[in-house]
Amino acid sequence: MEINVDSKWVGVLGRISRFGIPVGDAVQCGVCERRCVLKPGAWGFCGNYVNVDGELVLGSYGWLSAVEVRPAEVKPFFHYWPGSRALTFSGWGCNFTCPWCQNWHLSKVRFGRGGRGMGSYFSPDELVGLALTEGVEGLCASFHEPGVILDYVLDVFEEGSRRGLYCCVVTNAFFTLDALRALLDAGCDGFSIDVKGCPETYARFMGARGGEEVVLRNAEYVLEEGGHVEVVFLVVPGANDLRECVEWVLREVKERLGDDVPLHVNRYFPAYKYSEPPTPLETLAWVRERARELGFKYVYVGNVWGGEELINTYCPSCGALLIRRHHYGVSEVNLKPVDSEGYECLECGFRIKLKGKIPS
Ligand code: SF4
Repeated sequence: MEINVDSKWVGVLGRISRFGIPVGDAVQCGVCERRCVLKPGAWGFCGNYVNVDGELVLGSYGWLSAVEVRPAEVKPFFHYWPGSRALTFSGWGCNFTCPWCQNWHLSKVRFGRGGRGMGSYFSPDELVGLALTEGVEGLCASFHEPGVILDYVLDVFEEGSRRGLYCCVVTNAFFTLDALRALLDAGCDGFSIDVKGCPETYARFMGARGGEEVVLRNAEYVLEEGGHVEVVFLVVPGANDLRECVEWVLREVKERLGDDVPLHVNRYFPAYKYSEPPTPLETLAWVRERARELGFKYVYVGNVWGGEELINTYCPSCGALLIRRHHYGVSEVNLKPVDSEGYECLECGFRIKLKGKIPS
């Protein structure tokens, strides 16, 4: 249901959220585990949800900061619809406080008028129509944290999956379980999840003590429900690159998500309020090697140019090249389809972890 967000914001119509929980004259937001309690007229931590007359309203509904066609590989998804393209969209704001945010020009801007983030309005129908016109295979909510505009993302994904598009998110996965369930029910089956570090990283930098447990719980839940998860570990000097912290991340991810979860060890570059130099290549090589020692089957190194073997997929059984990637595209595939949603190695028949189809 549409509702006036604020009498000062003539023409901005929010939508009543599915996730409001009344608490006296306040309302609690059940979208993410911050669980903000909003007094009348107050906006949540992320700057997207507001209490309007006791109702939780997504005030920024439909106002997007970016809409672009992008390859799956850039997200990164390497085992989910390889070689496909998705119409990728984002709103404003975030529920974490990472000082090195690589997309801070969107995520650190609060939605609103007067020089703040507004962007362009797209109804879910318009956005899905644009995706179909562009001829892409899917939709992706990305760039900022999509959880903070969840009611809009759900409407887009429900419409998109009904019209034959895949639906995926690039997320910090700080959802409540109710919100995550709603995402899966809306047809979202691809989750590129940032694991930010060990418990100290979440408490010190994300403003989310205990966040690591929420994130891993949610990733496990997605896998149990048949969804696809890829883990991104951005290695940030001085924040999560100590041996004990890296060891914690690798061991927890492997134990809880399995040794076949695709793991992206990504290079950080200085951004927003964090000025440490980029992650040394030796650190990335060490994390990659340690992950392989622990038994991870698919380890990639991202944001590093010139190392094709760092982004190709090799057969964990016989070592054959399965998918060759070039920049953010797929240039060679040596896989055989085995059923409606499976692929195996041409050389030895090993069944690779892969969701979706490889466009021909
Ligand atoms: S989505 Fe926004 S308003 Fe809702 S709990 Fe999270 S930070 Fe708070």
